[in-house]
Amino acid sequence: MHPPASELLGWYDRHRRVMPWRGARDPYRIWLSEVMLQQTTVAAVEPRYRRFLDRFPDVEALAAAPWEAVAAEWAGLGYYARARNLHAAARAVVARGGFPGDEAGLRALPGIGAYTAAAVAAIAFNQPAVPVDGNVERVTARVFDVRDPLPGSRARLAVLARGFLDQALVRERPGDFAQALFDLGATLCTPRRPACALCPWNAHCAARAAGVQDSLPAKAPKAARAQRFGLHFLLRDREGRMLLRQRPPSGLLGGMAEIPGTPWRLETPWTLAEALPQAPVAAAWRLLPGTAQHGFTHMELLMRLAVAEASVAAPPGCFWLPAEEARATLPTAMRRLLALAEGGAGARDDAGANGPLLAEPASPVAPSGETTAPAARRGGRTRRTA
Ligand code: SF4
Repeated sequence: MHPPASELLGWYDRHRRVMPWRGARDPYRIWLSEVMLQQTTVAAVEPRYRRFLDRFPDVEALAAAPWEAVAAEWAGLGYYARARNLHAAARAVVARGGFPGDEAGLRALPGIGAYTAAAVAAIAFNQPAVPVDGNVERVTARVFDVRDPLPGSRARLAVLARGFLDQALVRERPGDFAQALFDLGATLCTPRRPACALCPWNAHCAARAAGVQDSLPAKAPKAARAQRFGLHFLLRDREGRMLLRQRPPSGLLGGMAEIPGTPWRLETPWTLAEALPQAPVAAAWRLLPGTAQHGFTHMELLMRLAVAEASVAAPPGCFWLPAEEARATLPTAMRRLLALAEGGAGARDDAGANGPLLAEPASPVAPSGETTAPAARRGGRTRRTA
């Protein structure tokens, strides 16, 4: 039996969190916030969200911008396939004359999957939809005491969450109900030690009644990620500029700038001697101690860095950029190498010049929809780390 939505909405009306995208019915702003929140925390998203809107205040401005400008604004947020999809979807929206107003129409846009379509439909268009992210999965698993582990239980949890639409109040206030679930999961029904005493649904929660709330949702053990190895070459000239290269348009970090280097191969780290034929120019390359590590969804990338100074013409495919501009342009994985060059350990949890360093997905450009529901958001976490 589903607990009454009235109790959750009553709590939400008193305790809702204030966020810059809350209260708006503008689908562009809601969509943008949802895409950003799928990969990083509320605290990290808020300033970047405002800055993005300053630069691209509406969907027309985003559609008209060149990809390079969007990519530069996205630097440091990780997960570049989402930025590419955001850009492509903005162009599709402008081409069709506006946002579709229902879930099915939204899902037809590049990169908008079940979760985002439901969130935008419910919040911007007041359509009867229940977006299911990690917070909602957790609340649902606990309220209904679903003990099957994720990800196998995901479909069942989505059906249970959508079951709330049987209540007239949820159909009247679908956007508020969705955001109430998000807030409950982020503030009270947290991954560890949920604050059940304060929860508006504590009298209806099956996991709490059974005393198992701390262990839900259960998760299947993760397979170990493959390791890949690369060696990159950071060349600076007399003015301190950095030599960068543009990656191919598809594949990992497709179309992004990089510090030139070897391919990322399996099993064996590169030696400098082995990698030298792939250096962008002949120079007195010096291998730095340490390794920069970056996690993608399906693999762990371990990179060494060689450095040199030379003032030469950029070879084909490469270009010089002033250091600050290079730092702002490079994706997170490459900024880990800069941390190494600056004496850091390339540590995974460092904050770079543009914000937190986040794991990025291994999938290349834009499968047309999300492959999984966004799991961790709004509550100080990154995706699927709840
Ligand atoms: S009672 Fe506790 S476990 Fe159940 S929904 Fe509320 S906060 Fe979560």
